[in-house]
Amino acid sequence: MKLNNFPEEIKPYIIPKAKGEMIYRCLGCDREFGIKKLLYTCPDCGQVLLIYDKNINLLKEISGETWRSIFDYRKMLTIPALKGIYRYHEFIGPVIPMDDVVYLGEGHTPVIKANTFLQEKTGLEFYFKNDGQNPSASFKDRGMASAFSYINFLVKKGFISDVLALCASTGDTSAAAALYAGYMNPNVKSAVLLPHKKVTPQQLSQPLGSGASVFEVPGVFDDCMKVVEVLSEKYNVALLNSKNAWRILGQESYSYEIAQDFEYDLKKKVIVVPIGNAGNITAVMSGFLKFFEAGIINTLPKILGVQSVHANPVYRYYLEPDVKKRKFIPMTVKLSVAQAAMIGNPVSMPRVIHLVDLYNRMSGKQNVFFIEVTEQAIMDWELLANRNGHIACTHGGESLAGLVEAKKKGVIKSDDSAVIDSTAHALKFSSFQQMYFEKRFPPEFKIKPDPKLVNLPVFIHPKDVKKVPAPGKPLTGDDFDMFVNRVSDEIATILDLKKV
Ligand SMILES: *Cc1c(COP(=O)(O)O)cnc(C)c1O
Ligand SMILES: [Zn+2]
Repeated sequence: MKLNNFPEEIKPYIIPKAKGEMIYRCLGCDREFGIKKLLYTCPDCGQVLLIYDKNINLLKEISGETWRSIFDYRKMLTIPALKGIYRYHEFIGPVIPMDDVVYLGEGHTPVIKANTFLQEKTGLEFYFKNDGQNPSASFKDRGMASAFSYINFLVKKGFISDVLALCASTGDTSAAAALYAGYMNPNVKSAVLLPHKKVTPQQLSQPLGSGASVFEVPGVFDDCMKVVEVLSEKYNVALLNSKNAWRILGQESYSYEIAQDFEYDLKKKVIVVPIGNAGNITAVMSGFLKFFEAGIINTLPKILGVQSVHANPVYRYYLEPDVKKRKFIPMTVKLSVAQAAMIGNPVSMPRVIHLVDLYNRMSGKQNVFFIEVTEQAIMDWELLANRNGHIACTHGGESLAGLVEAKKKGVIKSDDSAVIDSTAHALKFSSFQQMYFEKRFPPEFKIKPDPKLVNLPVFIHPKDVKKVPAPGKPLTGDDFDMFVNRVSDEIATILDLKKV
C-alpha cells in the first residue's frame, strides 16, 4: 500500500524523521556520555552502559493507540528501512536517519504455533518464534542491524572512517557481524575471534564466507572475550559484542515484534529465552518495558530465562531469594549442546540485575523467572519439537525444556501461553543432532539417546542385485529393471507397505 492511501491523521507519523537525543548511561556511576564516540564501558568506572533517548518522554505524548496504528500502517509499506527493526525507529534508534539504516532482512521472524501433539505433551499452548529465519540464521542479526546502522551513520557524518568491526563469538555473533560488515564493504572490514573447536562447522563457514579475518583462539568464549576487550582498549576498533549497547537496542525489536504479532495483547503470555552472555534477555526486558511505559502494551508478559546446568551462572545468582545476599560468581563452564550459551561470566549481568529489579517493580509482582535444564532434556525436547514441524536449534530445545520444567515447578500455569525463542536455525547445530543419533556424545554431556528419537538413514543395496548405477555409469535394460524393482521391494518391506 502507498502512503497516500493512508488516513490523513496517521500520515504525518508514518515516515520516521531523525530526532531525539541519545546518550550512553553508565549502570555503575549513572554518568552520561554523548554518542559521537563509540563507547563500550564507562570511561570513569569501567561498568557496562545502556543507551537512552533523553526525549523518551516525548514518545508518551503520542497515545498507545496511535503508536499501534503507526506500526500497523508501517507494516503495509514496502520501504526497506521500515521492513526490519526500524519499523520501531522511535524506540530503537531515533537519531538514525532512514537513509543510514542497514537492512538485510532481519527481524519479523515467523511465530509458529505448536501442533496439538506438542501442546498435549507439554500441557501448554506455545509458539516458537523462528529466529533461525534471520539472514545469518540467528537472532544476532537484529542487534547487528542496529550497530551497523549506527556505524554507517557515524561514517556518513565523517566522525569515523576505516572501521574494523571486531567481536568474540560463540559462533552466531561472528556470523552476523561478518555478514553486515560485508555489506558495508569497502568502508568496514571485520575480524572475529572464535574459541577453537567450540563452534560448529556451519558457524565457522559463515564469517569465512563473508570475508572476515577469522582467528581461532584456545579456550572457551570467556577467554576470547578477554582478548577482544584488551584489543578494544589498546587499539582503534569497533567492538560488536553485546557489550556494545547498540546491539541491545536492536534486539529490543524482538519484544516489539511479539507485541505486534499478538495485537498488543500480552495477557497470560510467557516469553522464554535462553541465556548466554545475557544480551538477549536484557533486550527483551528493556523492549517490553519501553512499550509498557508508552502505553502500547497494557501487560508486561512473564519472562523465563533458561540455562543449561553446564553453564548456569545467572540461574545460580537468582537461587538466593534474599536480594541483599545475592552475589554474582562467574563459573567455569562445562561442554553444552547449547554451545552459543556456554558462557560462565556474562558481560550483561549488571544489566540483567538492573532490569530484573525494574521489570518486577513495574509488574507489581515477580515476573522474571530463571530455570535450569539438563543437557539430556535440551536434546530430547529439541528433537521432539523438530519431529513436529519446527526448526529449533539446541537453544530452542533448551528453552522448551525450560518451559516444561517451569510448569512442573508451578512457575508457569496451564492457562499461560508461551512464546519460545528458537534463537538460531536447527541446521547450524545439526552436528549435535548427529552425535545423538550416532550415540557419540562424550560422557561429560551425560546424554543417553532415546531410541524413539534416534533417526538414521538406511542404505539400500539388496544382496542379489549385482549391478548398481554410479555417477557417469547409468544402468540400462534388464539390469536397470532388476535394480529398480528390487530396491522398491526392499523399501516397501521396511515400510510395511500394503499392495494396491
Ligand atoms: C548468542 C546466542 C544465545 C545467547 O544469547 P545471549 O544474548 O548471549 O544471552 C543463545 N542462542 C543462540 C543461538 C545464540 O547465538
Ligand atoms: Zn561509570
